[in-house]
Amino acid sequence: MSKKLKRCVVCGRRYRPDPRTARTQKACPRRSCRAECVRRKNASWLKRHPLYGKSRRLKIRAWAKAYPDYWRFYRAAHLEYRIREMRRMSTKRREARRVAKQTAISRRLDGVVEYLLWREAVAKQTAMAPGPRAGDTKEDENRSRKQRQLGKNPRASRRRLPKELPP
Ligand SMILES: [Zn+2]
Repeated sequence: MSKKLKRCVVCGRRYRPDPRTARTQKACPRRSCRAECVRRKNASWLKRHPLYGKSRRLKIRAWAKAYPDYWRFYRAAHLEYRIREMRRMSTKRREARRVAKQTAISRRLDGVVEYLLWREAVAKQTAMAPGPRAGDTKEDENRSRKQRQLGKNPRASRRRLPKELPP
């Protein structure tokens, strides 16, 4: 039996390693330290193999396509699995609906803010621009010119807010 003590990487206490695995053992024999050590090793492995989850999902999906009846029979035989899965999917769908609703509300608010800014910009332009605008009739133009000659701003009295909302 090895007499050398090692220091546990989880709790930091000294321990006597198992003589069969002394070379690779990293954690003391406490159950919680062992579990934590395994968890860290798995996490580090997944970090070094980032495509593992994706390729595994593809494999599982391909397998399910090749054996379409497997889950149907499994569900029929395992009622508690069906109930658990029903609850899990229900929670998942509810969360998805909540997120969708939140997104819709914030989009609508964005639209309102955009409209208010646009309205303000139009009102400012209307108040400031004395000349003819695109869409003015010949008559409007003549009136504008006459009023300019008289030293009046033709738009000042006609300032109004747009009737239509922007698209
Ligand atoms: Zn430990």
